[in-house]
Amino acid sequence: MYGRGYVPAKIDSDTSPDALLCPYCGGNNLHQGTVVVYDRNEDADKVRRTIVNQGAVSSAEIDNNTSGNPSLRRHALTIFFECELCQHADLQLHIIQHKGITFVEWSDPNADPGV
Ligand SMILES: [Zn+2]
Repeated sequence: MYGRGYVPAKIDSDTSPDALLCPYCGGNNLHQGTVVVYDRNEDADKVRRTIVNQGAVSSAEIDNNTSGNPSLRRHALTIFFECELCQHADLQLHIIQHKGITFVEWSDPNADPGV
């Protein structure tokens, strides 16, 4: 999925279990925040978007084109993070289903964040 605004996720395999690394500073002190689930049949016009944030849950079936779904074809999951070391607060990790492959990528740190 490279070349469309995403950068690959990196993992520190020297820790046990493996630790996810910040795409800005490479540190491993990441704190999870909002989780967004995009539930969509292949190429469907609609997607069920469920957002979990600080104990609150909202879910609605909406137009996929304006939903923020990072998958071009199917399902996806977005987890927001804040980095304790470099203070970036709007990091977004995406797990993207695409043609039988699952990609794990960050939004491009140089692109505007958005959901
Ligand atoms: Zn960082």
